[in-house]
Amino acid sequence: MRIAEVQTELLRLPLPRPMMSGSSSGAKGGPVTHINMPVIFITTEDGVRGLGYAWSLLGGANATRSVLREDFAPLLIGEDALDHERLWQRLYRRLQSVGRHGLVMQAQAAVDLALWDIKGKIANLPVYKLLGGARERAPVYGSDGGWLYMSVPQMLTEFEAYLEQGMAGVKMKIGHDDPAVDVARVREVRKGLGDNVWIAVDANQKWDYPTALRVGRELEQLNVAWFEEPLLCEDIAGHARLASDLDIPIALGETLGSRFEFDAYLRADAVDIVQPDIIRAGGITETVKIATLADAAQRPVELHHMMEVSIQVACGVLQSGKIEFMPWITAAFAEPAIIEDGYMRPPPKAGLGLDIADDILARYRVE
Ligand code: MG
Repeated sequence: MRIAEVQTELLRLPLPRPMMSGSSSGAKGGPVTHINMPVIFITTEDGVRGLGYAWSLLGGANATRSVLREDFAPLLIGEDALDHERLWQRLYRRLQSVGRHGLVMQAQAAVDLALWDIKGKIANLPVYKLLGGARERAPVYGSDGGWLYMSVPQMLTEFEAYLEQGMAGVKMKIGHDDPAVDVARVREVRKGLGDNVWIAVDANQKWDYPTALRVGRELEQLNVAWFEEPLLCEDIAGHARLASDLDIPIALGETLGSRFEFDAYLRADAVDIVQPDIIRAGGITETVKIATLADAAQRPVELHHMMEVSIQVACGVLQSGKIEFMPWITAAFAEPAIIEDGYMRPPPKAGLGLDIADDILARYRVE
């Protein structure tokens, strides 16, 4: 199953709804309106084609594509497409001095996804079955309806629609310059949705320790399910202190790259809920390893969006944990995600079950 051809693309897709968080805003402080999607197609000499991709909001997309095209493609040609572990290590070590985290790791994830897609197509099995078939579906929570620029009535409208679809709960952003604004908004959302609805909040690394501690104590009173990314992602000691001082679970991981960074957090007791982003973490191969670390440490895993591929790991190796409904790249794929009664299922197809049609490539391609 030698790799015969590697093709790369860069797409730029409009977000279905603009986003704004405590750490990300667009031009002139307004919402972010587009997502970048570097894509790789890996084709074997027998004509089996695997699809992989990465994502970014505010930068690095051209550089990620360049790593795929200039650095990784020559290393892949002629290799056995089934050797995902060997190839992961090879790519990791080749660019270690400029990689390990960030856009190099995201390019590596794209390669890894494509190799798993090929493996599934050759085996004629969906990837989640190859990984372990832990379950057939995963509950979904709504996460694209709570951005910082939205009013409380706007958020409630979106959240109620999610709940009417049977979703498990909702997540909203916090992280205004004045944290009292956030606490008031969470209080109003709690009041609007009632005491029994599952609500999580996400600060996107906005605060320092004293602010996060103060906000966290308020969130505990409002029965918030988790406090996501309260502090800068490099601050392991700060998170450990916060996790010790607060009862509300600390959730993080979307900005960490590779199992090594997760291991450091777990060893320091600095995270309660582990949230790898399948792209930033280094792909399916690496995310499965992170899930094993979390399992050994008895910490739940809640995958960070990228739901079209997260569903394969969520159903492949995790027996609990939700899918974050964030349809940012859904428009790229030929078929919509399968979500029924608040649960998502992997596509009933071999591999990742995803395809990008030629007209979509033509429409969103960045040259
Ligand atoms: Mg987050």
